[in-house]
Amino acid sequence: MAANVNIPRDVKDPFYRYRMPLLQSKVEGKGNGIKTVLPNIVDVAKALSRPPGYPTKYFGNELGAQTKVEGADEKFIVNGAHDSEKLQTLLDGFIERFVLCGSCRNPETDLSITKDQMIVRKCGACGALSDVDMRHRLATYILKNPPPKSKKAGKHAGTANGDDAANGDMNALAHGAAGLAFSDDDDDGWDCDEEALSKARSGGGPLAQGAAGDDEDDAGAEEADPFDQLGDFIGQGEPDDDAIFARARELGLQANHRAVVVVIQCVFEGSTTLVKDIGKHKKLLTRFGRGEKHQRAIVGGFERLISASPDALLSKTPAILKALFDRDIVEEDVLLDWGKKPSKKYVDKDVAKRIHKAAQPFIEWLETAEEESDSDGE
Ligand SMILES: [Zn+2]
Repeated sequence: MAANVNIPRDVKDPFYRYRMPLLQSKVEGKGNGIKTVLPNIVDVAKALSRPPGYPTKYFGNELGAQTKVEGADEKFIVNGAHDSEKLQTLLDGFIERFVLCGSCRNPETDLSITKDQMIVRKCGACGALSDVDMRHRLATYILKNPPPKSKKAGKHAGTANGDDAANGDMNALAHGAAGLAFSDDDDDGWDCDEEALSKARSGGGPLAQGAAGDDEDDAGAEEADPFDQLGDFIGQGEPDDDAIFARARELGLQANHRAVVVVIQCVFEGSTTLVKDIGKHKKLLTRFGRGEKHQRAIVGGFERLISASPDALLSKTPAILKALFDRDIVEEDVLLDWGKKPSKKYVDKDVAKRIHKAAQPFIEWLETAEEESDSDGE
């Protein structure tokens, strides 16, 4: 069991009322797949009254490493090997910047986002409102994955009621910036795009670091990986499709199928008219490339989108696929091939299975349509 420490740790009062579990970490895998699992980040985040995705992503930002939520049990992961002490020290920084009241340093604060897109900490102890440093990359992440609205006063650091915050963020993390992390530890999953990787490496971005799994110095952490940069660009200013593609080109991603996955997640995130909007974005979706790899990536992007909000979107799977088919964005053969078996290339295996199951009516319809058109042709 993890020991408890004060929030923040430099308060030495042994009877301080704001305590959190000491952060645990566990290094798993090896080589390029080496990663650090944060087994108790949900509890730590709960004690801080923040969604667990925030400190996790903060670690990723500071270390220049990819982060993600993995598996059915939703393990929070930072790529690379990082020891607990280092992460705990980074956590101190997170607490200083995103938790403690800027005025009295009390941890009993709520984060909220103002109309002009500033993140503020409201102190439950002294009532002060203090800005967070908007230049920190986590600020962008928080804007894209806003804190759950606190339902009532008293849901604060050190108190028990953080469950909804934690759960809400599971989706946010899987789906937000961290969802853009590509799982590079799946043996039969992600086929590593060497071209993109070497491009990113030559750009010095942390994609290279993430892939290498090494601890890097802070200099590297300042450079966002191009996929994250593209996601941030889309998330921040609601750019139109041409601007999105122009930005992708600037980042050297104009022919990169993985960029399409990012684009789909960011453009369609939270859309209530998703199926209808697919046609509107056809040009953007197909501009990155029209080959099979690109078409699979388009389906993969929607799989990721569905996996982030399964309650809302799983039932829309057939309609999404049909829209992709009807609009000639993804060809019949690619869809039929995709329909043969669940692939964990873009989403977790369990999610892939659920999506596949949900897609069955469409796949069956497509198979039938194919048979009919075949017999017509004879
Ligand atoms: Zn205060």
